[in-house]
Amino acid sequence: MHSPVVRVLILGGTREARDLAERATAEHGLEIVSSLAGRVREPVLPAGAVRVGGFGGVDGLREWLGGNDIDAVVDATHPFAGTMSAHASAAASVLGLPILHVRRPGWREDSDDRWLRVPDTAAAADTVVGLGNRIFLTIGRQEVGAFAALTTQWFLIRSIDPPTTALPPDHELLLARGPFAVDDEVRLLTERRIDALVTKDSGGELTSAKLAAARACRIPVVMIDRPPLPAGAIIVESAAAALNWLRVLADSAL
Ligand code: NAP
Repeated sequence: MHSPVVRVLILGGTREARDLAERATAEHGLEIVSSLAGRVREPVLPAGAVRVGGFGGVDGLREWLGGNDIDAVVDATHPFAGTMSAHASAAASVLGLPILHVRRPGWREDSDDRWLRVPDTAAAADTVVGLGNRIFLTIGRQEVGAFAALTTQWFLIRSIDPPTTALPPDHELLLARGPFAVDDEVRLLTERRIDALVTKDSGGELTSAKLAAARACRIPVVMIDRPPLPAGAIIVESAAAALNWLRVLADSAL
């Protein structure tokens, strides 16, 4: 007789999702498929089965989950992928599936830091107007359009792939993928004579060197807050905690 298998969809695109996929594919009683949005041209692929691309909203995801006999969902998307998290929560609720959200902790301000917290990218664009002439944007490529109307400042825009939206007229584009070292970040801030840094509160160590560099260079940071997770969401901070949650599900399926 075969032991029962719990089929799990991991909504991925993060280091935590890859870490979880690697550990969970090695477990008995779990069958994993990871999903990537398909935003990055050359994504770092997780271990095990992978699908790529949107599902087509809540209805499309609900159909996909049903059609693929999924028993549980782990939302390990980027902390700013608020739409995907909300869709996953809604689809899982309709089907009565357990869902877990993995969110790494946000970054913490040091006493030497000068952070200006804002709720979204539009508020960040309003805030940088008073922060000098040379602004470093490290918010990914999808929302840099919010700065396109700022014609009197110069922007250094860093992203993995080139942005496809409108950009501020006076800018330099720097294509790069973390991790970054603090010394290199300090050099970049110094050489480009940066007056202020704009970032999302992504958390994690892959891209946190820019915050240490801003502190060293005494540069203000405009910190965009995360969108909220759905009400009542079960949240853990790490792949290890998510694996424990999956083990409990697999044990209860025996
Ligand atoms: P989103 O706005 O929450 O999602 C938009 C749509 O993309 C979803 O409705 C879904 O399409 C599709 N999607 C997202 N994640 C998916 C996944 N894992 N598998 C399949 N489809 C997925 O998320 P986002 O567009 O990915 O990004 C939102 C923000 O987070 C952006 O500002 C971006 O810069 C940031 N982000 C950063 C990183 C990073 O590594 N730094 C990675 C990802 C996102 P359907 O409705 O068609 O299902």
